[in-house]
Amino acid sequence: MGEKMTCPGRTAQGRRPDQNKDEWSTDRWGRDGTIWVWGPVPRTCSYCACVHPEDVDALIAAGWTVQRSDKGYKCYMYPPGHIAAQAEYLMNAQAGVDPIVAMKNFPKEPTPPVKLYDWHFSKEDWERL
Ligand SMILES: [Zn+2]
Repeated sequence: MGEKMTCPGRTAQGRRPDQNKDEWSTDRWGRDGTIWVWGPVPRTCSYCACVHPEDVDALIAAGWTVQRSDKGYKCYMYPPGHIAAQAEYLMNAQAGVDPIVAMKNFPKEPTPPVKLYDWHFSKEDWERL
């Protein structure tokens, strides 16, 4: 069991803020078909699955990138090599390369994906991501 806390996402989503029902878990990846091959597993919120804000910098230092989603309150993180592979994939797609062939250089991706939600970050930390 990880450190108990209350996910701010409960109230952000208009739900009751059941006190201390959530925790920072360390077992989201690496078992039962999940994929994590990048060293230490970051802590995640047991309620919303956001990576612990203190673990984000270590991922960035290891080459992970943050991509904003079309939802302003949510970002995804991708492992080293993803951005370059994505650019190559788009070039190949425009050139008419078979999508299966075009995917061959994509690095392994975490399953489930790495997500960040703004309610676990200060405004300043969220904006600097
Ligand atoms: Zn949460």
